[in-house]
Amino acid sequence: MPDQRHESASALRRGHTLDPAKVVELYDSLTGLLGRKYFFHLVNNEIEKCRSEHSRLALVIIDIVGFRRVNLATGLDAGDAVLCETGRRLRGALRGCDSVARLGNGEFAALLPSMISEDHPTLAINKLLSAFQEPFEVAGLNLNIDLRFGVALFPDTCANTDQLVRHATLALLHATERGRPFSVYYGGAVDTDLADYAHALELRSAVEQNQLILHYQPKWDVEKKKIAAAEALVRWPHRDHGLIGPSKFIPVAEEGNLIRPLTSWVINEAVRQCAAWHGEGLKLEISANVSAKLLHDPELLEIVKNALDIWSLPPEYLTLEVTETAIMQYREEGTEILNQLAHLGVLVSIDDFGTGYSSFAYLCDLPVKELKIDKSIVNSMRGNTDKETVLRTIIDLGHNLGLLVTAEGVEDEEKYRSLEQLGCDIVQGYHISPPLTAKHLTSLVRTGSTLAD
Ligand code: C2E
Ligand code: CA
Ligand code: CA
Repeated sequence: MPDQRHESASALRRGHTLDPAKVVELYDSLTGLLGRKYFFHLVNNEIEKCRSEHSRLALVIIDIVGFRRVNLATGLDAGDAVLCETGRRLRGALRGCDSVARLGNGEFAALLPSMISEDHPTLAINKLLSAFQEPFEVAGLNLNIDLRFGVALFPDTCANTDQLVRHATLALLHATERGRPFSVYYGGAVDTDLADYAHALELRSAVEQNQLILHYQPKWDVEKKKIAAAEALVRWPHRDHGLIGPSKFIPVAEEGNLIRPLTSWVINEAVRQCAAWHGEGLKLEISANVSAKLLHDPELLEIVKNALDIWSLPPEYLTLEVTETAIMQYREEGTEILNQLAHLGVLVSIDDFGTGYSSFAYLCDLPVKELKIDKSIVNSMRGNTDKETVLRTIIDLGHNLGLLVTAEGVEDEEKYRSLEQLGCDIVQGYHISPPLTAKHLTSLVRTGSTLAD
C-alpha cells in the first residue's frame, strides 16, 4: 500500500497549519493515498507558493473508466483491489514531489508542482498511461483498466483553486465525451469546446424535460390566398440567454448525439399541434425540419410512425423538410429512408433549394413533393433580371417535375408580387408573418389576416 505520510510531514515542515493528531484522518483508508480534504488543502498551499515563486503547477483529475461495472462484475473486494492497484501505479509513475489523492469511488487526483512548460503535463500523463498498459491481476482475472485524465494548469488558465478544479473537471468530461484518454484545458479552442460541452449538457436536460418550444411560420397558398400550412421551428427558452434560435443549438445537438431525441420531440409536438388544429376545425398541414444526421438513421421512420399513430393524424398532413445539401450528402441511405417515408404517406420537401449542388436527374428519382427555394435566392432577386431568370427557371423546373414550389424568406410586397407572377405556389416569410406561437397562429388563421392581404 503506498504511503504518503511523509508528504504530510513535509507539508507541515513547509509551515502548513495541520494538527498532527488529525493527520491520520487525512488519508484515504483504503489506498493510503491523500484524502480529498488534505489534498485540496495542499493544492491551496501550492497555488500560494506558485504565486510567490512565479512557478507553474498542474492539477490532474483521474477517473477509472467504468469503475461501477468493474465493481459489479468482480465484486466489492476485487473492486477495492483495483482501487489499491490504481493508487499504487499512479503513485509509482509520478515524481516524489507530486501528490496523489483518492477523491472518491473511482476518482483520483494528482498535483504536479514545478511544471517546466505547458506540455510538461502531457509528458506526465503519457507516463501515467504507460503505467496502466499491463492488465491488473485481480481475483484470478486479468483486467484491463483504462483511465481518463483531465488536466488544468495554474496560472496559465486558472486564477484560483476553484477554477483549477473546475477546469480540470471540465477537461475530464471533455475527454470522456470524446473517448480520448486525456484532455488538457488550454482555454481558446478547448474553451469553446467546453462551452459547447456545458451547453450540450444543458440542452440534454432541456430536451429530456420538455423545455424546448415550437414556433410556427405560416405557409401562404398564393392562389387560394390563405394559410395552407405551418412550419414548426424549434426554440430553446434559456434561463440566462433568453430564447435561443435553432441555428445556435442544432449543431450542438448534432455533435452531442441529441439530434434524435430532439427531432423525435419536435415531430411529436408538431403532429400533436396539427391534430389539435384539426380538432378545432382548422385543416392545416404541418412541416417539420429533419437534420442531415437523421437521414441515415433508420429510427426516423419509427419516430414519424409513432407520432402519427399517437395523435391519429393522416400522414399526408405531415411534410418533412430536408435540405438539398443533406440529401446529396447521404444519397444512398437517404434515398432509402425518404422512400420509406413516402411509402408511409408522409410528404418530403427539399429545403434551402439552390444552395447545394444537386443533380436534377437524381432529384427526379426521389419521392419529393415540394421544392423550397432558399431565401438567399429569393432575396437576391430585387431589380436583378439575371436573378429573376434563375428564379423563373427553378419554378418552371419544379413544376415540370410535378412539384409544389415554395419561396421562403419573402420580406416585402414587391417580391411577393414577382413570385406571384412567376407562378410560385406557396410563399413564406416576414411579409406574410414571422414564426408565431401556436396560439397566435391559431388567431391569425381564424381572422384570416396577414401582412400579404
Ligand atoms: P429553415 O428551415 O430554412 O427555416 C427558415 C428560417 O428563416 C427560420 O429561422 C425563420 O425564422 C427564418 N425566416 C422566416 N422568414 C424569414 C424572412 O422573411 N427573412 C429572413 N431573413 N428569415 C426568415 P430559424 O427559426 O432561426 O431556423 C433556422 C434553421 O434552423 C431552419 O432553417 C432549420 O434549418 C433549422 N431548424 C429549425 N427548427 C428545426 C428543427 O426542429 N429541427 C432541425 N433539425 N432543424 C431546425
Ligand atoms: Ca425549413
Ligand atoms: Ca429553408
